Amino acid sequence: MNARTLDPTERLIEKEPYYEPVGEEIALFEAAYRQRIPVLLKGPTGCGKTRFMEHMAWRLQRPLITVSCHDDLTASDLVGRYLVKGGETVWVDGPLTRAVRCGGICYLDEIVEARKDTMVVIHPLADDRRTLAMEKLGQMLEAPAEFCLAISYNPGYQSVLKDLKQSTRQRFVALEFDYPSAALEQRIVATESGVSDAVADKLVRFAQMTRNLKGSGLEEGASTRLLVHAGKLISDGISPVTACKSAVAQAVTDDADMLKAIQELSSSVF
Ligand code: ADP
Repeated sequence: MNARTLDPTERLIEKEPYYEPVGEEIALFEAAYRQRIPVLLKGPTGCGKTRFMEHMAWRLQRPLITVSCHDDLTASDLVGRYLVKGGETVWVDGPLTRAVRCGGICYLDEIVEARKDTMVVIHPLADDRRTLAMEKLGQMLEAPAEFCLAISYNPGYQSVLKDLKQSTRQRFVALEFDYPSAALEQRIVATESGVSDAVADKLVRFAQMTRNLKGSGLEEGASTRLLVHAGKLISDGISPVTACKSAVAQAVTDDADMLKAIQELSSSVF
């Protein structure tokens, strides 16, 4: 297959994904893309990294291939493997290979979760070589100019075992993501969930209170994603306090005292 032939499964995103920029991330990503430098998105879960990638794929008119990394994910899962199909052994490309072949954007979400052997395939793709070694096929693929590698990582979950090595991180241009400012987050929550500005404002204030609990027994405060979930429940007729309990409090903790504390916060706002 020609390196630039689009597989029918690698569709382009046709409709603009709604994305509110929080800084210069769009211009930075576009410049890195033109300069063929891979991109590292840093930030907590649920703050817009995936949506940003969808938006950029739409802007750049490239297919987006997203892989959610987990602790069993190996290099073969990314590159591909031989499978037996109807008695025949056939080679099946993995998502990273598909992205390289079609000149797409490969987004490896939560890269530190993946097995260490994945770095062996990522490193040569993430520097000047821009090559993908397909060891089992005995082939080397050169990435076309349109190919882009992006990875994400949440520094908040950092541990000695799950840290991004300098040899990896120093290959990427880093874009920092965080929860948007209150006014912006209110707009996002209202747009995404259909609640009024007044309700969105209260949800954001509630979220900020939970974020202040980070480090005092709470691993992570309520993300924008959770506020959108709560907003959607409210739009569908659920009372705000119940929506905050199910969509936010229960999502961030199992601890009974912490649950009670978070529920008290939502009752004080609504
Ligand atoms: P992440 O990939 O960082 O975990 P997502 O991109 O999935 O987070 O964001 C979660 C949800 O929050 C999105 O589906 C969207 O509804 C909303 N969201 C967060 N940030 C933005 C933003 N800047 N613009 C538009 N929507 C956003």
